[in-house]
Amino acid sequence: MLDKRIKPSFIVKYLDQYVIGQDEAKKILAVAVYAHYKKLEKSGKDSIEIAKSNVLLIGPSGTGKTLLCETLAKILGVPFVTADATSLAQTKFVNEEIEAILQRLVDKADGSIPRAQLGIVFIDEIDKLKAPAGEAARSTSGESVQHALLKIMEGYPAKLANKAYVDTTNILFICGGAFVGLENIMAKTHGYGFISTTNDDNQNILDRLNSRVKPTDLFEFGLIPEFTGRLPIIANFQTLTKSMLIRIMTEPKNSIYNQFREIFKNEGVELTIEPRVFEQISEIAMEYKTGARSLRGIFEELINPLLFIVPDDQTIQKVVVDSLFTDAKVLRKPEAA
Ligand code: ADP
Repeated sequence: MLDKRIKPSFIVKYLDQYVIGQDEAKKILAVAVYAHYKKLEKSGKDSIEIAKSNVLLIGPSGTGKTLLCETLAKILGVPFVTADATSLAQTKFVNEEIEAILQRLVDKADGSIPRAQLGIVFIDEIDKLKAPAGEAARSTSGESVQHALLKIMEGYPAKLANKAYVDTTNILFICGGAFVGLENIMAKTHGYGFISTTNDDNQNILDRLNSRVKPTDLFEFGLIPEFTGRLPIIANFQTLTKSMLIRIMTEPKNSIYNQFREIFKNEGVELTIEPRVFEQISEIAMEYKTGARSLRGIFEELINPLLFIVPDDQTIQKVVVDSLFTDAKVLRKPEAA
């Protein structure tokens, strides 16, 4: 089933074309996903049962968690859907909502249940399941949501509205959340100080263990032990820096800049945006604190006035933007000048 070229290193190289930075998380996910699909490929009567390793992605919003999962699904050629733990907690009918998620996965697989059963489901905002006091009656408690999710993560035949069954055993579940304040919790509880060691190698291992998120760190966010136990693989996503935001707008194959250059090209016009502009956009985006999410909106505000005039004016050959705060330069075809 897996394309022969697909190895963890190949997956990371592919991801690099679309996702900027997050190198650590890319490697962890590549290994986890490779192991998962390799296991399915090899599973037979003689092989030992390898437990499914679902993944937890921790990091601020807009740093590429969803994009990474979506891109992974694309490489592997499996269907992919996202869902939101908070909306599961806002309904009284959590099982129906979960069914709807699986139905979307089947739709993404063009109606093929066997293909849907190999898909990837990304469940975001898993850190928001702690019920505020007095809210329990109106909605499903965060704990019930976790129990409902556990059921599908562990694998069971879920019945869809049309009475078809989806076996969730081999679906890969990836959970995500910002977990704001996690560093403070880790600072308080980490430190295997009671194990004394004079050996440098052991010290390295201890340091690595200490910097890892422990399942118990997540209890303060309302996650229950059974649930964290089902998410043994944890990958951290970093806050995007200004230079990463600039790279996001310009480097990926389908970067915002490339997309808009294409739109202008379709009008017979060349679009050039000077590096200074990307810096300015990144500075504004940093202030919004929504990771890369605000980039497109700021970009569109800059470009839309130009896209309004360009289709009406056949004489325009080139548009150059060299600052967010000055008008773009419009260059015309020689015969029109
Ligand atoms: P998250 O799931 O972490 O909240 P998303 O993956 O939904 O964030 O990111 C929102 C949008 O921002 C993506 O569609 C993508 O355009 C852009 N983006 C975010 N992080 C990155 C990144 N590391 N590399 C490239 N694009 C990114």
